[in-house]
Amino acid sequence: MDLIEAKYVRDIEPGEIIVIDEKGLKSYHPFPETKLSSCIFEYIYFARPDSYVFGRNVHMIRKGFGRKLAEENPVDADVVIPVPDSGVPAALGYSEYSGIPYENGLIRNHYVGRTFIEPQQAIRHFGVKIKLNPVRDVLKGKRVVVVDDSIVRGTTSRKIVKMIRNAGAKEVHVRISSPPIFFPCFYGIDTPTRQELIASNHTIDEIKKYITADSLGYLSIEGMLSVIPDSNGGFCIACFSGEYPVPFTKEEVIQLGLFEDWVKGAVKS
Ligand code: SF4
Repeated sequence: MDLIEAKYVRDIEPGEIIVIDEKGLKSYHPFPETKLSSCIFEYIYFARPDSYVFGRNVHMIRKGFGRKLAEENPVDADVVIPVPDSGVPAALGYSEYSGIPYENGLIRNHYVGRTFIEPQQAIRHFGVKIKLNPVRDVLKGKRVVVVDDSIVRGTTSRKIVKMIRNAGAKEVHVRISSPPIFFPCFYGIDTPTRQELIASNHTIDEIKKYITADSLGYLSIEGMLSVIPDSNGGFCIACFSGEYPVPFTKEEVIQLGLFEDWVKGAVKS
């Protein structure tokens, strides 16, 4: 839209139909009103940082996540680096709040696809090495805070920690600008099953050990929501909380493999 110098007026609301004709612009809401549940993952990972999503700029929200992350998970360190590109705004926020200098310690090769959506384990393993390369002079002998937007399976984080250590870092502290992902998405995002989501069957300490970090800290759900102005509960946060905004029938719960969680009350349907 910026390319054609369009003016941002407002988002088209869910369930809204806008008709533009020679008489002007008309807005219709033909469906019954329901509770708004915008996908919070747009702010964490999916959207471009220069985009306006749900009326807010993505870069500024991500920076706010990083500031809150630093407030909730402080650590003594020499340098803050992002996992590029999606970790950049949060790392800037972490650096700003903590006063620890920001550096580019990992350089991303922009010609290779994003790991999160590549289905084959083999391709993902291969992908990390091609995609990122360390800047040794930034990392050597340093206590490094590395900021990423999320941990899904843990395999990528493990390789990144190893890469930073091999480049000479003295300590590697991983900070994640979203809460642990416990539950899959059933609303169109191709997330892994619960078995593959590392946080759903490991404690934070176990994840820390698996990714071989010196420390690991996540943003809390409350911290994440506190960063979004006027969020008023209008977000889907089901992958963190298990509170799916569109209820499942018992049959769907069984089909989706959520039955055990549902019985335990972990998934609210
Ligand atoms: S479960 Fe909700 S918050 Fe998570 S990715 Fe799906 S729509 Fe987004």
